[in-house]
Amino acid sequence: MSESPEAPEVGSDPRASVRTRVFVVGAGIMGSGIAAQAALAGYPVTLEDVTEELGRRGLSNAGRALDRAVTRKAIGPGDRDAAFARIDVAIGLRRVDGAQIVVEAAPENLDLKRKIFRDLEESAAPTALLASNTSSLPITSIGQELRDPGRLVGVHFFNPVLQMPLVEVIAGLTTRPEVLERARAFAVSLGKTVVTSRDTPGFVTTRALAVLVNEAAWMLYEGVATKEDIDTAYKLGFHHPMGPFELTDLVGIDTAVAILDVLWDGFRDARYRTCPLLRSMVAAKRLGRKTGEGFYLYPPPSPPR
Ligand code: NAD
Repeated sequence: MSESPEAPEVGSDPRASVRTRVFVVGAGIMGSGIAAQAALAGYPVTLEDVTEELGRRGLSNAGRALDRAVTRKAIGPGDRDAAFARIDVAIGLRRVDGAQIVVEAAPENLDLKRKIFRDLEESAAPTALLASNTSSLPITSIGQELRDPGRLVGVHFFNPVLQMPLVEVIAGLTTRPEVLERARAFAVSLGKTVVTSRDTPGFVTTRALAVLVNEAAWMLYEGVATKEDIDTAYKLGFHHPMGPFELTDLVGIDTAVAILDVLWDGFRDARYRTCPLLRSMVAAKRLGRKTGEGFYLYPPPSPPR
């Protein structure tokens, strides 16, 4: 797994390559997975969050993801240790200027992401690739307050990052072709298969997922079947590896609701009318695995090795 990563610089020939640091903004579910994946591919990685505690929690989760990869025999213990040693933690953007690739994985909130990218435009190296891991927000809209919105691109990873082979790369209306190419090259350097989407709400994958999850929630809300039976029906009836409620617990119920809101705002189509059950669960802070309870209960995680 320890290939040597090659990441072309913005503005240069995309095939010309330099070793580079990856800076991940937001050390939550996705940020910790992206950090582990980039470190495994040989990139030095800085994992950033708003407090020391959140940064450390993200680093622990990156360690756990690497531990699970060892258990699956996807990597050896030596790969795991080397990758873990490549990740450090930062609070705030002070050290972002040392990175050539910046991946934002903060919560799915348009105003927050706009602010983060305005700050990144000030603090990151002018040649750094600016990528958002948004699962639904329009890239063009996230970048609309930037001096140079052509630098911004969507690089959408899937959860759990180390196990999911896909990355969806999204070209905003203003994204420069060489930036898109560089984002694709980065994803390929992590061993991922890339699909490219136009910048429409939910892109390809999230739009498909939102309908699937919402419909399952409506069926539960209407009492059509139990959550266990709905999950079993999707798994055994359609070969899905996880049922919709298991998947929503993994994704985060708050994230699922945020995604449906973006689709509703973008299309005003009844297909994206959020099931009230999902909203109640967010209000009750039953967000899924990350809070220990969603549709199912989850025991607290054991500390990483
Ligand atoms: P999360 O809530 O687990 O993590 C977000 C992290 O960002 C938190 O640790 C939070 O403290 C941090 N944060 C908040 N404000 C910040 C700031 N100003 N600077 C730095 N960090 C900040 O969320 P997540 O599930 O990891 O989702 C992150 C992004 O990835 C979202 O855009 C989401 O839509 C997308 N996404 C999520 C999934 C999934 O399965 N959860 C899959 C694909 C994409």
